[in-house]
Amino acid sequence: MNSLEYRLNLLPYTRAELIEMVKKQVSKKRFRHILGVEQSAIELAEQYGGCIERASIAGLLHDYCKEMPADVFLQAIDDFRLNVDLKTWNNNIWHGMVGASIIREQLELTDEVILHAIEIHTTGNAQMSLLDKILYVADYIELGRDFPDVQEAREIANQSLDAAVAFETAHTLAHLIAKNIAIYPLTIETYNHYCAGRK
Ligand code: GDP
Ligand code: FE
Ligand code: FE
Repeated sequence: MNSLEYRLNLLPYTRAELIEMVKKQVSKKRFRHILGVEQSAIELAEQYGGCIERASIAGLLHDYCKEMPADVFLQAIDDFRLNVDLKTWNNNIWHGMVGASIIREQLELTDEVILHAIEIHTTGNAQMSLLDKILYVADYIELGRDFPDVQEAREIANQSLDAAVAFETAHTLAHLIAKNIAIYPLTIETYNHYCAGRK
């Protein structure tokens, strides 16, 4: 995907400049993951009729805040007047839910469709847009991922995006429960809607 050039003016940077900015923010390992997510998101956008450019930007930026320290998120929750309940969570939830606001400000990204996909990329929600689903699934199935069910997840994503959202959600939830990790309410919303058929 090195030939992809941005034409929609969603950002004041080229894709090459954006990649350099992301590279400076994260470890080598996470950078490789991020490039993998971009690639998977572009492929899913091609398959399911999504916007390639938004898929690329969402993929490149989704974990931009993943390695920021807690105090940055706690300050951002105040600065951006986000729900104070967020303070009781941790980086796993903050890097998306709070990260989207940090990215909006730091990177001059105003496209709310991309920002929303980044915001809920860890948890999903009950009403996911096409880009929300593309990013959520791409994050799970990118080629660098290596866990027991990933091949099945990739095959399901090839058949149905909604089925892939359901598969990922059920597996993530089972994993969190097995480890006695607190479930963020939006994750339950995603489960109720995509796995249990609640409207
Ligand atoms: P990553 O940033 O590429 O590692 O992937 P994600 O953003 O999807 O997930 C980050 C971490 O948050 C993973 O370890 C998930 O298992 C975890 N996670 C997902 N949903 C929840 C949730 O509802 N609650 C908590 N506490 N963690 C979650
Ligand atoms: Fe993430
Ligand atoms: Fe990720």
